[in-house]
Amino acid sequence: MKTFLRMSLMREKSAIDQHLRDFNGIVIDAHILETYQNATSGYIVTNSIQYIIDPVTYKFALDLILECTEKKWYSRLIDIYGIEDFISANGILNLRCFNDQNVLNKFVQKVMNYQRERISSLSSEVSSWFLLLESATIPQIPSQYCLIPPYFIINSNEILNLNINLINSVEKYNNEKIYALIPIDYEVLFSFRFLNDIIDRYSSLDVDGYFIWITNFNEKNERSDSLELFIFTIEKLKSNIENKEIINMFGGYFSTILSTLGILDGLVHGIGISESRDPYSLGGPAPTRYYSPIIHRMLSTERAEDLLHNRVFRCQCPICDQKTPSNMVTEDLIKHVLNIKVQERIEIENHTLTEICEKLHRDYRLIMSGSRNNQERKQLRMYATPLLEWRKALDCKRV
Ligand SMILES: [Zn+2]
Repeated sequence: MKTFLRMSLMREKSAIDQHLRDFNGIVIDAHILETYQNATSGYIVTNSIQYIIDPVTYKFALDLILECTEKKWYSRLIDIYGIEDFISANGILNLRCFNDQNVLNKFVQKVMNYQRERISSLSSEVSSWFLLLESATIPQIPSQYCLIPPYFIINSNEILNLNINLINSVEKYNNEKIYALIPIDYEVLFSFRFLNDIIDRYSSLDVDGYFIWITNFNEKNERSDSLELFIFTIEKLKSNIENKEIINMFGGYFSTILSTLGILDGLVHGIGISESRDPYSLGGPAPTRYYSPIIHRMLSTERAEDLLHNRVFRCQCPICDQKTPSNMVTEDLIKHVLNIKVQERIEIENHTLTEICEKLHRDYRLIMSGSRNNQERKQLRMYATPLLEWRKALDCKRV
């Protein structure tokens, strides 16, 4: 199973040091890289971390981009991707510009070259710091796990055709690995024919692996039928491709289970942030939250503190041994979540699916048995119900 960490705020870097080797590398969004250029590239190079740059090209086609046009990364990426001439008055990229194959080819090349060269060009500054410090060894540029062709969120046949054309236009160099990111609009998950069509088209591509992203698909809020549709999507893709990895770009506990079962080949964890991504909301810095191990979700630190009266909500990790959630600083909260992510993975790997399903059911009952009053019971049910939905969706996989 491959597990990557998605770095979203540079405040995370000191907290993840201890666990860096427990993960296969980090994923960094191009707009984050352009916001914290030196901090990000310096961190990747000095720690020699395997990395993936998500080019986040979809952002430029969303109405929401209007809110971002004054940000530094917006103008930097528009310049780097060579799309300044195709931006409408409202700041949105006009996708019709890609009807011209020459324009499309240039765009693809620029987006791919950006991923190939950005860390090394930014880190030449880092190297000069090392020279100044008279360090004996200048760190090497770490390896890039794979490159991702540009993509836009699939909500129509036109976008599907565009994405396929973008991927087919990639010129692959040397030993590079190209992974197609399949960004499926949430509503499409329920449109069986279109979903099948998407899977068929992506299956026949000459790529080395896949990332999947169902927009705004949040494992913790989905009912078992949509979780089953998610499993169906992965399995259908898997049956069409040979020995190629499928990694969930935004996953949590449920995706970790699917990865252990071999349905997925891995996942990318958000840290300190939600484990899903809604492209249609603005987002912004996530408040510091506490990852509650028994329900596998983030809670406000106040809420997590309040629930400690119930033993099942307590954590035994070295951070929680010293402090309770409301006394933790951001670094503690991130260290705690990484401790638990590693622990969860080991625990899942050492148990059969039947045992995992039994544990989900047992945990549900433990959570519900600790409520002090009706109001708390309602809230606990909201937290605990996903465990039953996961179990229901996994039931069909039990032999
Ligand atoms: Zn803990």
